[in-house]
Amino acid sequence: MSDTIRRGIKAFLLLSTLGGSLVAAEPSGRLYDPKVHDRFDWWGDVDGFLEAQARRTLDLADQAFVKYPPQLPEPMERKMALYMLDGVMHEQDAPKRASVQEFLRYRIERSLREIETTRVSKGAMIWKLYNETFVIRTASVTLAFDLVRGRLRGVEGFGLPDDLVAKIAGHCDVLFISHRHRDHADESVARLFLDQGKPVVAPPEIWRGKPIHTEITHLDRIPHKQHLLKVKGGAVSLKVTVYPGHQGSDIENNVPVVITPEGFSFVQTGDQSNENDFVWIDEIHKHYAIDVLMPNCWSTDIHRLADGFRPQLIIPGHENEMGHTIDHREPFWLTYNRLFESLYPLMVMAWGERYHYLRPTLSR
Ligand SMILES: [Zn+2]
Repeated sequence: MSDTIRRGIKAFLLLSTLGGSLVAAEPSGRLYDPKVHDRFDWWGDVDGFLEAQARRTLDLADQAFVKYPPQLPEPMERKMALYMLDGVMHEQDAPKRASVQEFLRYRIERSLREIETTRVSKGAMIWKLYNETFVIRTASVTLAFDLVRGRLRGVEGFGLPDDLVAKIAGHCDVLFISHRHRDHADESVARLFLDQGKPVVAPPEIWRGKPIHTEITHLDRIPHKQHLLKVKGGAVSLKVTVYPGHQGSDIENNVPVVITPEGFSFVQTGDQSNENDFVWIDEIHKHYAIDVLMPNCWSTDIHRLADGFRPQLIIPGHENEMGHTIDHREPFWLTYNRLFESLYPLMVMAWGERYHYLRPTLSR
């Protein structure tokens, strides 16, 4: 290298130093702290490398979700962030990773802060928490569907702390449990609601033979039959129809249509997956005008399911259920494939996101 070139490079570097760094530092969110996590050599430490990569990825995805909250049309940045989650979550041992556990906790803690402080005067605020947990607030009532801690057998540290879920439950007026599986039904959470005098609606077979069974509200599972369900100590009445769904051939799976005093109607389908149930699914739109359908993303013939409800909006759930092996952990990219060309608007949401639903038409 000639002296002239060397002097030129030196001058350039000097100017660069004076003018600030050539490469802007990548902003870090809550999950990635350069002081703690920066390390530049991973040779011989494959697990440490994968953990660092997961942490960096989740941190950036979290920032993307904050910058691009749920909206239609959907910005590409959101889809990219959701696919980034798929990449991390579909490592077999992902639920054991500290970064994944922190990501879930952190995002649901943020939801709790929002749930504690959000007042709704128009429409409905919809939070999607873990798996198929939804919390929905209108001006008069807060509904919870399949609220669980998300603990996994044999995986220490994954799931939500008791006090976090207890605080969320404290802000909800009623709990709907779809079916008996532990990613949907959590007896300790049901206990919290019952102890506060709040109804818990579930199919008859959940906890049969246990003392708690007599305290559960078992509404008739009869297609199109509407029940009045009093909540908030009788101050508010919900109209509820419990459709007699099933997971597979024989697991009772409630599919409740819940109508709030404002006239908003919500459906969460639990693990609905049964061909014969289309007998009533196909007919639902003739009985109810559905605002938001929250189906399990892997439900049987999801387009036909959606056609049964004809909702104003679909918010799918059950992506990245970490208790499953990766083939049934259900990535977001597959949700997009399954609901490709959906006739109904689709809003895909990550753990701990919220969306303010306003009914798009005034026709009903
Ligand atoms: Zn499930």
